[in-house]
This record gives sequence, C-alpha cells and structure tokens, in this order.
Amino acid sequence: MRKYVIMGVQGSGKGTQSELLAEDLGLVHISVGDIFRWHVQNHTKLGAQVRRTMKTGDLVSDELVESVVRQRLDQHDWNFGFIIDGFPRNGRQAEFFMESYDIDGVIHLELPDEEVRRRVLSRRLCPGCGMDYNLIADRPKQEGRCDICGTTLVVREDDTPEALAARLRDYHEKTRPVLELFRRKEVVHDVDARPAAADVQQQIRKVLDLPPYRPAG
Ligand code: AMP
Repeated sequence: MRKYVIMGVQGSGKGTQSELLAEDLGLVHISVGDIFRWHVQNHTKLGAQVRRTMKTGDLVSDELVESVVRQRLDQHDWNFGFIIDGFPRNGRQAEFFMESYDIDGVIHLELPDEEVRRRVLSRRLCPGCGMDYNLIADRPKQEGRCDICGTTLVVREDDTPEALAARLRDYHEKTRPVLELFRRKEVVHDVDARPAAADVQQQIRKVLDLPPYRPAG
C-alpha cells in the first residue's frame, strides 16, 4: 500500500502526474478541487457552499475540506493506496492529515510563477466529461471542442488573472509552510515541473524508487 501526497502550485501538473502514477500503480487519485467542482456542476448543497469561494480563487474552509477528505478516504476503496492532490493546503489541514494517515512520500512539483501564469491562463476544461486541455501543450484536435465528447470547452471559473493572483498568494503564504512541516516529518521529493509531462513522470518514478514509466503506444 502506498500513500502519496502531491503538492505544487496551480498549473504545475499535479492532476496529470497523479493520474499517470495512479493508473500504473492502481492507486486511487483523490483531487479535492475535482470533488468540489463536481459538486458545483451538479448543484449540490456543498456545491452552493463552495462556489463563490472557488470562483474568487480563495480557500474553502478547513472544516468543509476536512470532512470531504475524511468521507472520501472512509470509502476505503484504495487497496493499493492513494495519491492525494490539492490537499493539505495549510498547516491545520496538514496536521489533521498527519494525525490520521502515514504518508509514504510527498512529491513537490516546482514551477516558477511566470510559467504558472502562462500555463493556467491557457487552460481549458470540458464541462461535459471533465477532460482538461491546454492551448500551449495539449490542444484539442478541433478548436474549442472536446476530443472525447464534442462539448464546447470553457475556461475554468477560477482561471482568471485575478483568481490566479489570489491562489498564488495563498500558495506562497499558506501552502509553502506545509512543505516545511512535511520536510521535518516526511520525505519530500522536489521535482522540476518544467519539462514535458512524460519526463516529469519519469523523474517522479525515480525519486520514489519505482519502476520506470512506460508511456502507452
Ligand atoms: P484546485 O483544483 O486544487 O486548484 O482547487 C480548486 C479550488 O478548490 C481552490 O481554489 C479552492 O477554492 C478549493 N480547494 C481545493 N482544495 C482545497 C483545500 N485543500 N483547502 C481549501 N480549499 C481548497
């Protein structure tokens, strides 16, 4: 059983890298942001509670986040382990998490702010099936349409310059200290997130002492 946390500023590729690792190792990928987005899209009560906060790029309250994480992990569908992304984002969340779970490794994706801005502002999302695109590295075949389901792509509500500035500020002020906490207690692996996704994944495998990544096809 492997329990990993992946950390990094928005746009550093946490989702992509988590998926690649999870697929191969049979891990469950838990993205707190995706869980919230699902609730917003499906107009649940929780969705109504978090929508405004998400839109401005601010952090949702620790109580809500912790209950979402607890409920998700309580499903115990992670026989081979999990990789959690987007959590913990501040000291309190980190303490809550470390009290309940042993972590085998923390992957820290490093990306300079200017590259974050470039990547995030070119991000597009399919509201139909949830597929992510990027107009720089991962363009859809037909402009503005999802390759999988054909739905018109949209900009994530929180991918505006203002919301991004708020998220960068939160990241530097609140999330970076979490890394320092993990550095004292756990094994933090710093990985350069600038190279292509497959190369970043290869590096992650290396630092975690896992067999190399073999891209399909
Ligand atoms: P993400 O997709 O990880 O960027 O998350 C999108 C949004 O969900 C964030 O901007 C926050 O509003 C909220 N969110 C996700 N994870 C957390 C967390 N651990 N703590 C507080 N808010 C969160």
